[in-house]
Amino acid sequence: MPASVVRIVQPHRLGVVRRLTAAWKWPPTHAGRVSCGATQNCGLDLILEHFPVGPLQCNCVIIGDENSREAIVIDPGDDADRIFEALKRHGLTVCALVATHAHIDHVGALASLKQLTGARALMHEADEPLYEHLAEQAGWLGVPPPDVTTLDGFLRHGDRLAYGRHALEVIHTPGHSPGSISFVLDERSPRVLCGDTLFAGSIGRTDLWGGSFPQIIESIRTKLLTLPDEAVVVPGHGPETTIGTERATNPFLVEEQ
Ligand SMILES: [Zn+2]
Ligand SMILES: [Zn+2]
Repeated sequence: MPASVVRIVQPHRLGVVRRLTAAWKWPPTHAGRVSCGATQNCGLDLILEHFPVGPLQCNCVIIGDENSREAIVIDPGDDADRIFEALKRHGLTVCALVATHAHIDHVGALASLKQLTGARALMHEADEPLYEHLAEQAGWLGVPPPDVTTLDGFLRHGDRLAYGRHALEVIHTPGHSPGSISFVLDERSPRVLCGDTLFAGSIGRTDLWGGSFPQIIESIRTKLLTLPDEAVVVPGHGPETTIGTERATNPFLVEEQ
């Protein structure tokens, strides 16, 4: 695969204020809280480690190139020091800090990890209003509001986010939130990091701000179930699964076939 570069598609738009109109309901209910911390060598000169962080046990994913030691952190939801320690343990330099969406359990440590690593903070633009209301999200959880950072750019469907000789492809999968995105590892290692869009045996809730049940089903059906059966799914919470397993058994999807 030819080398590609992180594409910052738009500068951060300052001064854009949008209102959250729907009432919040917290805490979000997600699939189980099974610990699935693992360091995996995919046999492809990749470093892949993910572990649950924070009270809602969001799966934070570190993915790096074993040769160049460049890495991307997906969903730094909490425990910035623990994530930073894992990066140091692997000798990784972070190219980008990215969020599958802007719920607090996925972005709570974005600012502090940016301060520790100097890496750019990126997400889909449609979730910027959620990020701007992080303090409100914290209020619903009854936790202190985390620091908020300036976003360094927005990710769009089809972007390729490079780390060393590898890349993550950005897939826009709205429904859990308007700016929910999934990341697909390059084709040699079929694996998708899908945030709160798809879980083992479940799907993300759609009753929070900007959520849509028809949209999440459409996203999963047209953008995730098109992946091969053997593709490993790393969800935003709970254990790994595969596209084939969810296609065959997920109660929200079997009727959609
Ligand atoms: Zn969420
Ligand atoms: Zn979540």
